[in-house]
Amino acid sequence: MSNISELFASNVFNDSVMQQRLPKETYKALQRTIKEGRSLDPNVATVVANAMKDWAIEKGATHYTHWFQPLSGLSAEKHDSFISPTADGEIIMEFSGKELIQGEPDASSFPSGGLRATFEARGYTAWDPTSYAFIKDGVLCIPTAFCSYGGEALDKKTPLLRSMEAINKQALRVLKLFGNNEVKSVKTTVGPEQEYFLIDEDVYNQRKDLIYTGRTLFGAKPPKGQELEDHYFGIIKPRVQAFMNDLNDELWKLGILAKTEHNEVAPAQHELAPIFTTTNIAADHNQLTMEIMQKVAKKHHMVCLLHEKPFAGVNGSGKHNNWALSTDTGVNLLNPGDTPYENAQFLLFLAAVIQAVDDYQDMLRVSVASAGNDHRLGANEAPPAVVSIFLGTELTEILQAIEQDAPYGNKEKELLKVGVHTLPKFPKDSTDRNRTSPFAFTGNKFEFRMLGSFSSVSCTNVVLNTAVAESLKQFADQLEGAANFEDALHDLIKQTITTHKRIIFNGNGYDDAWLTEAERRGLLNLRTTPEALPYSLHEKNIKLFTSHKVYSEAEMKARFEILSENYSKTINIEALTMIDMAKKDILPAVSRYAHELSDTVLAKAACGEIDSSYEKDLLSKISKLTGTAYRKLQKLEEVVLQAHEIEDAAAQSLFYKDNVITAMSELRITVDELETIVPADSWPYPSYGKLLFSVK
Ligand code: ADP
Ligand code: MG
Repeated sequence: MSNISELFASNVFNDSVMQQRLPKETYKALQRTIKEGRSLDPNVATVVANAMKDWAIEKGATHYTHWFQPLSGLSAEKHDSFISPTADGEIIMEFSGKELIQGEPDASSFPSGGLRATFEARGYTAWDPTSYAFIKDGVLCIPTAFCSYGGEALDKKTPLLRSMEAINKQALRVLKLFGNNEVKSVKTTVGPEQEYFLIDEDVYNQRKDLIYTGRTLFGAKPPKGQELEDHYFGIIKPRVQAFMNDLNDELWKLGILAKTEHNEVAPAQHELAPIFTTTNIAADHNQLTMEIMQKVAKKHHMVCLLHEKPFAGVNGSGKHNNWALSTDTGVNLLNPGDTPYENAQFLLFLAAVIQAVDDYQDMLRVSVASAGNDHRLGANEAPPAVVSIFLGTELTEILQAIEQDAPYGNKEKELLKVGVHTLPKFPKDSTDRNRTSPFAFTGNKFEFRMLGSFSSVSCTNVVLNTAVAESLKQFADQLEGAANFEDALHDLIKQTITTHKRIIFNGNGYDDAWLTEAERRGLLNLRTTPEALPYSLHEKNIKLFTSHKVYSEAEMKARFEILSENYSKTINIEALTMIDMAKKDILPAVSRYAHELSDTVLAKAACGEIDSSYEKDLLSKISKLTGTAYRKLQKLEEVVLQAHEIEDAAAQSLFYKDNVITAMSELRITVDELETIVPADSWPYPSYGKLLFSVK
C-alpha cells in the first residue's frame, strides 16, 4: 500500500489544491461562495474551470462530466472530452467557466414524475461548489444538482441543499436567542454506516434472480446460516481483506474517509463506516462508495450485493444514518456540554428532534420506503416499521424530571431548572446499547437505522433536516417574544416533552408487546411501501416542505408517482424473473429428474422383484410438488397480468403488494421444498450454501 497521507484525496480538487492553484482573489471569492452560499461570479468560474482542467489533465483525465443523482436513485454522468478544435485543424484542451457551472443533459430519459413536460426535454445541472470535484476513471466529475428548466428539482441533491439551508436559517435564530452571535452557519453532519454482501462472481452468474433483481427469489435454507453467530466481527477472509484494502485505497483517493470495516452478522456480510462529514458531501460520498464497492468487487471476481434482502433466512443489509448539527465554530449542538448554558441549548435541540420525529414519523418512514427494504423493517433483524426514539435511561429520567417538576438526582433533591442546573454526564455506553431502536441517541448524535443498504441518504436527511427546522422555527417564534427567556425556555422544553413523549421508547423494539403499545400510543406502523407512500401527500407534510421551500407541491407529487411506480416495476421484474426461472429451468429440470426416477423404477421392475420404494416414494413426492408448483406458477402469471391492467400508480402498487407478492411467496415455498429433495446436480441453480460460503 502506498503512503496513505499521499494517497488521501489525491484525486480531489479540494481546498489545499485550490489554495495552491488559484490566484488569491479567485480563491477568496470561491471560498465566499462555498462558505456563505453566495452565487459565483462568471469571471471567477472561468479561472476556476481552467485551473481544474489543468489539474485534471495532469492527473491523466481527458473528459469531464457533471455528476448528479437523478430520481432513479443511481448516479448519472455523461462524459464530454476537453478537446476543442482550433482554426488550423489542431485541437486544444478547453473547459470554460460556463461548462463548469452549468450543463444541459437531455432530461427526457430520467424519471421526472411528470415534472418535465415532454416538449421540454432539457434539464440543467448546476455545480454544487460545496462538494469538491474529483477524478474517477479518468473523468473529472463535477458534483451537480439537476433541475428542469422550470426550476423543479429532478434529483436528490437539490432538495437536500434546500433542507440544509432551511435548518441553517432556523438554527441560527435559536442560537441568537442564546446570545450566540458569532456563529455564521449551522450544518448538519452525517456518517452513514454501509452494509453489503460479497459473493463469488461465478456463482452469481449462475443465478438469474441475482442478476435481474439483486436478490434470490428461490433458495432452500442451507444447513448452516447465521445461527452460530460466528461471523460478526469474525476474522476477515483473505479475499475479502484484499477487496477491503483495494476499496480503501480507491475511496481514500476520492477523499472519502473510510474508517471502520468488519464482518457483519450474516455469512458473507460486511460493513464499512466512514468518518462523518457535512451532509451533502456525505451523501455524495455514500453514493460513490456504493458504486466503487461494486467496481472493486468485480476486480476481485466477486459481486457486491447492495440489495436490502438478498437471501431469505439470514439478515439483510441496512444503512445507519448518524446525524448531528455542527456550527462553523466547531460546536456539535447535540453534545450535552458541561455547563448549564450548554446543557440548556442541548436540551432545546434535543426537544426539537423529539418533536420533529414524532410529528413526521410518517415522512421518515417514507424516506426509507422501497420494495427491498420492506423485507427488513419489522422482520426482527432491522428496526420495526414503527418509528420511535431511544434516549437511554439517564436522559429519559432527566426529561421526566423536567416534565413533572420532580426532583432529579439522589443527593440534592433539587428541582431541575433548565439553564440553571448542570446535567449529569451520560457516558456513551449507557446510550448505545439498544440495537433495536429505529432512532437512537448515541451520546452526541442520533442514529437513524431504518435505511436500506441501497437507500440514498439524501431522502432521509431531507426529511430530518426539514422536520427539525420546523421544530426550531416554532421554538424561535415562541422564544423570541418571551419576557423571560429562561422561564420560557424551561416551559417550552417541558411542554414539548409532555406533547411528544409517546415517541420515546427505550425497550426492545422486537418485542411483540411493543407493537401493541405503539398502537395504543397512536404511533404509526406502516409495514410496506405502498401503505407508507400516500402519507407523503398528506396536507401537513406538503405544508412542511413547501413552507420551508424544500419541495414544491408538484415536486412532492412527482416523487410520490416515481416511488409508487418504482415499487410496482421492481415487484413486476421479480415476478417475471420467478416465472422465467420456474418455467424455463426449474420445472423442466425437475421433470427430467422425475423421468430418471421412473426409468430406474422400470429398469428395476424388468429385473424382477427389486425394491424400488425409494424411487417410487420420491417420484410420487416430486410429482405432487411439481403439480402444485405448476398451479402456483399459473396463478402468479394470472395476477401479474391483472396488475398490468391497473392504471393508477398507487392502486397498482397496492395490488402488487397484496396479490403479486403473495403469489410469489406461495410459489417459492413449493419450489424451495422441491430443492430440498432434488439432487444438487439436477437442480439448475447453485444453492444458498454455495452462494453464502462462496468466498474463501
Ligand atoms: P459506533 O456506532 O460503531 O459505536 P461511532 O459512534 O464511532 O461508532 O460512529 C458511527 C458513525 O457515526 C461513524 O460514521 C461516525 O463518523 C459517525 N458520527 C460520529 N459523530 C458524528 C456526528 N457528530 N455527526 C454525524 N455522524 C457522526
Ligand atoms: Mg451504528
